[in-house]
Amino acid sequence: MQYIPQILFLIFTVFAIWFFSKNMNIIRRNILLGKDKDISDRKGERWRNVLLLAFGQKKMFRYPLVALLHFVVYAGFIIINIEMLEIVLDGIAGTHRMFREPLGGFYIFLINFFEILAVLVIVSCAVFLIRRNVIKLKRFISHDLDGWPRSDANYILITEIVLMSLFLIMNSADATLHDKGQYLISGYLSPLFSGESAYTIEKTAWWLHIIGVLAFLNYLPYSKHLHIILAFPNAYYGKLQPLTEMDNMPSVQNEVLYMMQPELAPTGDAAPVKFGAKDVQDLSWKNLLDAYSCTECGRCSAACPATQTGKLLSPRKIVMDTRDRLTEVGKNISKNGSFVDDGKTLLHDYITTEELWACTTCNACVKECPVSISPLDIILELRRSLIMEESNAPVEWNAMFSNIENNFAPWKLSPDDRDAWVNG
Ligand code: SF4
Ligand code: SF4
Repeated sequence: MQYIPQILFLIFTVFAIWFFSKNMNIIRRNILLGKDKDISDRKGERWRNVLLLAFGQKKMFRYPLVALLHFVVYAGFIIINIEMLEIVLDGIAGTHRMFREPLGGFYIFLINFFEILAVLVIVSCAVFLIRRNVIKLKRFISHDLDGWPRSDANYILITEIVLMSLFLIMNSADATLHDKGQYLISGYLSPLFSGESAYTIEKTAWWLHIIGVLAFLNYLPYSKHLHIILAFPNAYYGKLQPLTEMDNMPSVQNEVLYMMQPELAPTGDAAPVKFGAKDVQDLSWKNLLDAYSCTECGRCSAACPATQTGKLLSPRKIVMDTRDRLTEVGKNISKNGSFVDDGKTLLHDYITTEELWACTTCNACVKECPVSISPLDIILELRRSLIMEESNAPVEWNAMFSNIENNFAPWKLSPDDRDAWVNG
């Protein structure tokens, strides 16, 4: 009987870790459905970006107060969970605060530090909830977030408040029993949890805290909060070349070389099966990693000239649509063993031509994104499919395409008169 709590704890923990690993493997498999793309260059700069953009959250600090609150939530949540190490070891060994004796005064310092952070996390989450639900910042009430994404954001903030509160309740009840007066926050709160029920409250809060953390871990793969993991690889694989430099399509580039500098053109290249991307499998794995890394913060759409002038396009929606379609394709594969045509595609069924044509390719969305996502890359690939596979382009663009094809310039001038456009 005395080992039942330990056995239960082990069952919960092993099951939670197994289920989380299973879901993360599905996400990895889905990302690898994308086309291969070699991003193995400039490793030093990439690690620098991981430190600056993911750990340091550099782009967030353009708005210092919000950045500070976000940093408190992110760092506080991670640091406080260091205490999870003790909780897990206590759970396995059936001990109670096994580090208290060996660490002595340093342990008291750590718990005080964690408790102050816990209070700061609660305050920051409350501010974020108010910004979303009371002040209703424009980017948080946009239709992009209707339904599950809006609830998801609120669930995350509420869960973090609950977990931090359980941590403080657990410590306060424990302070009543053992360490009265040694902890700043829980020592202050401990009179609320004194009396005979203190032991029960401490144990209940302990169990709810660990179950809550394990449940939260398993919620991540279903939530935009997955970015707390994927922001790191996404920062590593982010674009290093100038933002305005677009990836050429090698097959098209080779065709141009055949025409203009045949001596430089490679020989024996097979014709591409498809141009651009019609569905998620035609995008690169980096585009798909982007889709899973999106925090749904809306900074891209707030900076997008198309969104801001009332066009249908919202870069946040482009990324969210890509993730939703990828999830749908992934479920199809899990159910059938391999992808069975469901008659849908990312292009048209999720993202419309009107959205795609509204993009000015200004790169503002890419510049703003705090987790190194490029909505523009996805837009360009879908546009390439529209134009090169479906011959579906605005009329004005078609005139420009024929001029380029016939005159090697966008204007209606013979190649010999290419400079003539300067004459008015
Ligand atoms: S590149 Fe396109 S989607 Fe991105 S901000 Fe500019 S117009 Fe908007
Ligand atoms: S793409 Fe980037 S900026 Fe846009 S919502 Fe996602 S995380 Fe935020």
